[in-house]
Amino acid sequence: MNGHLRQFCVFGNPIEHSKSPLLYNFAFSSFSEKLPFLGFYGRYLLHDNKKNDGDKLISQTFFKLKLSGANITVPFKEIAYKECDEVKGIAKQIGAVNTIVLKNKDNKNTSLIGYNTDAEGFYQTISSHNFKTALIIGAGGSAKAIACVLRQKNIKVTILNRSKNRLGYFIQNNFECFLSQDFKPASFDLIVNATTAGLRDETLPISKDLLKPLLLQTKMAYDLIYGVHTPFLNLAKELEIAYTDGKDMLIQQAVLAFGHFCDNKIPALKIYEKMRRILE
Ligand code: NDP
Repeated sequence: MNGHLRQFCVFGNPIEHSKSPLLYNFAFSSFSEKLPFLGFYGRYLLHDNKKNDGDKLISQTFFKLKLSGANITVPFKEIAYKECDEVKGIAKQIGAVNTIVLKNKDNKNTSLIGYNTDAEGFYQTISSHNFKTALIIGAGGSAKAIACVLRQKNIKVTILNRSKNRLGYFIQNNFECFLSQDFKPASFDLIVNATTAGLRDETLPISKDLLKPLLLQTKMAYDLIYGVHTPFLNLAKELEIAYTDGKDMLIQQAVLAFGHFCDNKIPALKIYEKMRRILE
């Protein structure tokens, strides 16, 4: 271990439930011998008062806190995307950033580089399955990330949402889209609950009459929510369908973000093993 301190954090609202400090601080301390800096990771409750349109909410706070990198969660990923100096990879298609890294261009000028590790992190959790079709229930930020990465991997994506507003992005990008009331059950290899239904309530993302025949024809039910027995996963379990929650995605996206924070000096598998252990 050597060198100076580098500080990181996760921005969000709410943020008190976030497991990110646990994951990243454990990884920083586990790999301290191999990193040229001491890493510390906190969480930061950000308030968007929407009064100061000209202000750069994320980047100003980032510099004020003297951070070297940050993660961004609900509801700031789209704002973060707009405030980065450069956005890399699939984040450009998604229009949302969940990881920011400070780069020193020439010791004087610094710039903020944005990435989206949700997309690839999700894909890594299903890449061993040979899925050809997927139904995503929900049309928010995480649905965008998942839809983009699945399409990139040649998986046919259908979007189903309870209301019209957020479907605009998917329609513009030529995804097949349905509202719940217009949808007729069909067969999908993978069904993803990318809604918040079940997070703090006991609701299914769509009616049981619609969901049950879908689940009976699928190979896997995937809920992005983690740490909660959601009605969606309970129904899949009851029907004896293979299912998974969002824990592995949480870890995989953090592994990729940690890689960006330390210039990919640590092999991803080693980071994964540490992060998996601390969440057990
Ligand atoms: P958003 O707020 O961007 O989108 C929420 C979506 O859920 C919208 O499509 C909304 O529909 C729908 N929705 C909300 N309540 C209901 C309901 N009662 N019934 C049906 N649909 C509903 O959220 P995100 O995309 O950012 O996150 C979605 C979920 O994914 C969250 O639970 C989050 O915790 C989880 N997540 C997990 C990650 C992981 O690493 N495991 C990473 C990122 C997210 P409408 O448009 O009609 O309002």
